[in-house]
Amino acid sequence: MECRIGVISGDGIGPEIIAEAKKVLNKIGETCGHTFHYEDILMGGCSIDATGEPLTEEAIAAAKASDAVLMGSIGGNTSTSPWYRLPPEKRPEAGLLRLRKSLNLFANLRPAYLYEELKAACPLKEEVIGDGFDMMIMRELTGGLYFGERRTEETDGVLTATDTLTYNEHEIRRIAKRGFDIAMKRRKKVTSVDKANVLDSSRLWRRVVEEVAKDYPQVSYEHMLVDNCAMQLVRDPGQFDVILTENMFGDILSDEASMVTGSIGMLASASLNDTKFGLYEPSGGSAPDIAGKGIANPIATILSAAMMLRYTFDLDAEAEAIESAVKQVLREGYRTIDLMPQEAAGVTQVGTAEMGDLIAARV
Ligand code: NAD
Repeated sequence: MECRIGVISGDGIGPEIIAEAKKVLNKIGETCGHTFHYEDILMGGCSIDATGEPLTEEAIAAAKASDAVLMGSIGGNTSTSPWYRLPPEKRPEAGLLRLRKSLNLFANLRPAYLYEELKAACPLKEEVIGDGFDMMIMRELTGGLYFGERRTEETDGVLTATDTLTYNEHEIRRIAKRGFDIAMKRRKKVTSVDKANVLDSSRLWRRVVEEVAKDYPQVSYEHMLVDNCAMQLVRDPGQFDVILTENMFGDILSDEASMVTGSIGMLASASLNDTKFGLYEPSGGSAPDIAGKGIANPIATILSAAMMLRYTFDLDAEAEAIESAVKQVLREGYRTIDLMPQEAAGVTQVGTAEMGDLIAARV
């Protein structure tokens, strides 16, 4: 198969982790007879430095011309980087929001899976972890508070800031369908998360999810208030299969879910639209505190590449080969620094490139 992949290396650890994902993809290409054509696309701080814009029209066109986009991460230290002295619409993250909107990437999937070998890195007590957990957070990505109208006004010397949270029924229905479709391929349970005791947008969310649920009689579903869900994620994470939620709640809950897996360096993500196209990226940011040191964990990016093979190219066996290689490397005791347990007996610390080599060798 010929695959055209747009590659956004981005900032901070982005180029380091992308190099390892390409290493693993190339090994898949050699072994399984696929050709991956990469086209570099500028976005984020590096694009600001090169063009003055976090995302140019040319970059959007290049992304649209690709079958899928694999991304590292963008952004810098938000306190010290000059990129954050620019107006909000010129900052690195504005590029990503614009790309998501331009490509209509409304469905964000983030798996949170506890590897047996990483149970020690999970901050929860053993009796809470139980048999582990395996959930998928399905977050709406192009609506809600992050895309609503916003303004800051001064009246009689008092500053007032306003952000608006808007959803229409079509936006809710299409993400709910995606959530139930994914649940059909998993353990057939959807937890729809909202704040329906306070927000109108959540009450509409609940109504539409109930309508969609009627088309999926095999899927059991429940509604949960977002504050309760935040609590349940650390009290009994094993209860969740698919968590379906709106943009801001999903942003916060997916980071919480990532923390209970032990490291943000393990979490892949996919952002999808109505076609086979997807943007695949690790859940973490550009980690400016460790950039350039060769110690970042590349696994989330490698697993994002596996999601790309599965969801865009329908190469399920190849995706599984990558996932198995990751498990094997962990079983053999190799860890990047973020995964190092306090008791280091039986484990070997490796850097970013070595982790990529080990996984590629086991594909
Ligand atoms: P971050 O995720 O970059 O870092 C948080 C902590 O996790 C840091 O201690 C970091 O070292 C660690 N970490 C993250 N990824 C890691 C990895 N692969 N291996 C080992 N450790 C890892 O979050 P932050 O510090 O809040 O944000 C830094 C920058 O990243 C900001 O500019 C932010 O806007 C941006 N950001 C970008 C994205 C994206 O590109 N999609 C997402 C989140 C944050």
